[in-house]
Amino acid sequence: MSELKRIGVLTSGGDSPGMNACIRAVVKAGIGKGIQVFGIEDGYKGMIEDRIRELTYTDVNNIIHLGGTILGTARSEEFKLKEWREKAVANLRKLQIEALILIGGDGTFAGGMTLTNEFDIPIIGIPGTIDNDIHGTEFTIGYDTCLNTVVEAVDKIRDTASSHHRVFFIEVMGRASGYIALNTAIASGAESVLIPETVTDIPLLADQIRNQNKGIRSSIIIVAEGDEEGGAKEIMKKVKPYLETYDLKCSILGHIQRGGSPSAFDRILATRMGVKAVELLFEGKKSMMIGQIGRDLVFHNILEGTTDHVSKDDSGIGLLKLLLTKG
Ligand code: ATP
Repeated sequence: MSELKRIGVLTSGGDSPGMNACIRAVVKAGIGKGIQVFGIEDGYKGMIEDRIRELTYTDVNNIIHLGGTILGTARSEEFKLKEWREKAVANLRKLQIEALILIGGDGTFAGGMTLTNEFDIPIIGIPGTIDNDIHGTEFTIGYDTCLNTVVEAVDKIRDTASSHHRVFFIEVMGRASGYIALNTAIASGAESVLIPETVTDIPLLADQIRNQNKGIRSSIIIVAEGDEEGGAKEIMKKVKPYLETYDLKCSILGHIQRGGSPSAFDRILATRMGVKAVELLFEGKKSMMIGQIGRDLVFHNILEGTTDHVSKDDSGIGLLKLLLTKG
């Protein structure tokens, strides 16, 4: 039986749709197990600034469908320095918070590892980022919603591109990872995709556009913002000398990609991971990251780089019963 009485939860790094569903699951599962759950505002920034409050059932009522994060999120350069981490940990200790659930990306987990290494605070990392760029999981919370938002936008642009016989370069998020771009291209039937993981050849791209456009003169080219040849605007400029007679346009989708109500997939993923994170802490686990491979949740030890356990039994009726508990 665990001695655990008080845990903290935070969202950190870029926001992603489904973070609220995850916070809700952590709070419900925690309270259900007799644990007090504290929400830390704006990630590590709020931990340093002592902005920490207890979360009740009421706080997480009616948030499963909301995008963004009710706790807020931030990036904190200060937290990378030990002196500021000591201040943050003093704030946790004041409230007797013994363990943390961290919803974010790689950077967030790196921050969490310093808390385990230096202060022996158990942490469980839950992958929450639209980029789907975290090792050890096939899906991150927010990616599915983002992909659907982007595909819907591209479909709309295609209508006007084909009506006006234009070539559109559409820039999507992904500084270091082309996941959003690649799967958007597949799902929207784009003519080309440029991602950071592959080499972009401008003359070859121009040739492809020319060949695809025989007679139609409309194309959709998806560009990940981190492509080594530049974003959509730069690529369009570089291609222009090869396609002087073509009507080239550029569209940068921007922050619309982060917002919106999470998809059913992201809500379920977030809920499964949130509940499991509480259970792992309850079992006395430290420094774990939860992932989903296929339909199974997997648990990686992020300090040792090992995979501890695969869970097949956490979906369905048991999970639902726990979450139906009303305060
Ligand atoms: P996203 O994928 O959306 O960018 P992320 O979690 O990778 O999410 P980061 O900005 O890289 O986002 O990290 C979030 C925060 O984690 C940082 O602002 C910083 O406070 C903390 N952090 C990152 N790396 C470290 C580190 N090496 N040591 C301590 N803290 C860190």
